[in-house]
Amino acid sequence: KVELIDVSKSYDRQKDVISNINVTIEPGEFFVLVGPSGCGKSTMLRMIAGLEEITGGTLKIGEKTANRLPPSKRDLSMVFQNYALYPHLNVEDNITFGLDVKKVPKAERKKRAHETAEMLGLTDYLKRKPRELSGGQRQRVALARAIVSEAPICLMDEPLSNLDAKLRAHMRSEIRRIQKRLGITMIYVTHDQVEAMTMGDRIMILHDGKIQQVGSPIDIYNHPANPFVATFIGSPP
Ligand code: ATP
Ligand code: MG
Repeated sequence: KVELIDVSKSYDRQKDVISNINVTIEPGEFFVLVGPSGCGKSTMLRMIAGLEEITGGTLKIGEKTANRLPPSKRDLSMVFQNYALYPHLNVEDNITFGLDVKKVPKAERKKRAHETAEMLGLTDYLKRKPRELSGGQRQRVALARAIVSEAPICLMDEPLSNLDAKLRAHMRSEIRRIQKRLGITMIYVTHDQVEAMTMGDRIMILHDGKIQQVGSPIDIYNHPANPFVATFIGSPP
């Protein structure tokens, strides 16, 4: 479980870009963070990952207060918007890079890479370099790298934004399928309300760093908390 208690963030110690966020994300939940550009989604995800300092409130991961925990000790994996693959490594080595750092033995690394590649339809591409892959294939490698870590919590920041509409739709259901199969907790950032509504068990709508509403897509659609939410989601008037 990931719990944010009165979490705030200011980059300049003056104006908050995230204000007083209170939310608990349950184990195994697909939780979507959605809102317009600049509302603070990436900032919030990066605070959970430990890549950005929390300037107010408390972050708990499991039962532990995690405000000062280094990223490597947080039991989570993260997929960035630009994939961040290593150009000089082939697909297999890109997938297992994190396991290498953690000193997982070679045979075990290979086995896990192959299982994960199979799950994501990458078996035929293991020996290729990232530049020899399509955008969608690269995206799947980034996903594989997060999954192979077996971290119980996965954070994704607009992972599908570079893909065309057809592939994006396909990857949405792919990500959902794998998340459910592995039972991991997902915190997924998007600015796309359709993506949020179709993927999330629950979604949180952010505007100017403040929570507008948290709930299931159907609840939010039927009972938007304010005019901003209604317009953003496109609820009937
Ligand atoms: P997008 O959908 O465009 O990715 P976002 O919701 O992810 O937007 P953030 O990147 O979290 O938004 O930014 C939230 C606010 O914080 C913005 O006003 C942004 O300008 C500001 N901000 C982000 N990073 C920094 C930084 N390193 N220093 C100062 N201000 C920052
Ligand atoms: Mg962002």
